[in-house]
Amino acid sequence: MKSFHVDDVVGKNVIETTGMVLGRVKDVVFDVSSTVTLIVVDSEGRERQIPLSKVTGIADNIVARSDMTSGLNVSASGLECQFCGGVLMEGQRICPACGRAQV
Ligand SMILES: [Zn+2]
Repeated sequence: MKSFHVDDVVGKNVIETTGMVLGRVKDVVFDVSSTVTLIVVDSEGRERQIPLSKVTGIADNIVARSDMTSGLNVSASGLECQFCGGVLMEGQRICPACGRAQV
């Protein structure tokens, strides 16, 4: 597992698996129980917290799973599996991750 420095993530864009840009990482905070949280500021200056457990990849951008209930405007087009949270393409009715039909 590759490890990252704070400098590696601060200033990077955070993009949900649905493709929605959440914002840019402003800071990284952590507590004594090893919970790491990214502080992300969107284009309108609003801060949100993205737990590192939601992050699925760090490269040129940071990719985060989109199962946050506190999202500002999480897409209403059903892009997530109701059962496993897997990413669904628009109009997809069978989850590619768990194979269950969406109702
Ligand atoms: Zn699924």
